[in-house]
Amino acid sequence: MHFSSANWQQIEAYLQNDDRCILPVGSTEQHAYLSLSTDSILAERISLDAALPLGIPVLPTVNYGVTPLFMAYPGTITIRPQVMIELVNDILDSLARHGFKRVLIVNGHGGNIDFLNEVLLQSKSKNIQVKLHHWWKAPLTMQKVLETDPVASHASWMENFPWTRIGNVQQPAHQKEAVDIVKLKTLSPEDARMLLGDGNYAGFYQKPDAEMLEIWHVAVNETRALLENW
Ligand SMILES: [Zn+2]
Repeated sequence: MHFSSANWQQIEAYLQNDDRCILPVGSTEQHAYLSLSTDSILAERISLDAALPLGIPVLPTVNYGVTPLFMAYPGTITIRPQVMIELVNDILDSLARHGFKRVLIVNGHGGNIDFLNEVLLQSKSKNIQVKLHHWWKAPLTMQKVLETDPVASHASWMENFPWTRIGNVQQPAHQKEAVDIVKLKTLSPEDARMLLGDGNYAGFYQKPDAEMLEIWHVAVNETRALLENW
């Protein structure tokens, strides 16, 4: 069940028999020709597809992340690391108060990793267990991506699913040459935009949906296994 389609009585009843839930965390930022909400859409959908068959509730997605490098791209919203840490901490404290004891955080944005690691560290002193899952980097999912095409990156084909595309926006057909990511991370937002152009880091922009759905299937199962074996 999704929190937004549940009432408090249903959550209370659920907590009689189980104490697990999922918190998706994403970002609102440039993804070349894909949705600004790509990271949030993917984290939420992976969470729902993994958890719903098990009857485990999925919290409303944290739709904003830490992404200062993309601030020269209109539509990108960045929050300060401390805001991310405190927001997720407050969510965990609220969940613990109600009796949730195991929270799987499904993260969709690389820029959140350091700060979610800090949340994980701080959770050791809370009355709640936290697992952190960066779904696209998980071993089986990453292996499947690399088998499909080893040149995969931010805003490339690997984030292009039927649910992250924008209406009838055409994707370029060429394979974008890789940008220097080490250099990129040292740049101002304006210089980062100059270097990145449309925003894709490397690789093709789109693959056939059949190949993408195979990757999706692996990612959903890998995420679900973390809930089942807990
Ligand atoms: Zn992304």
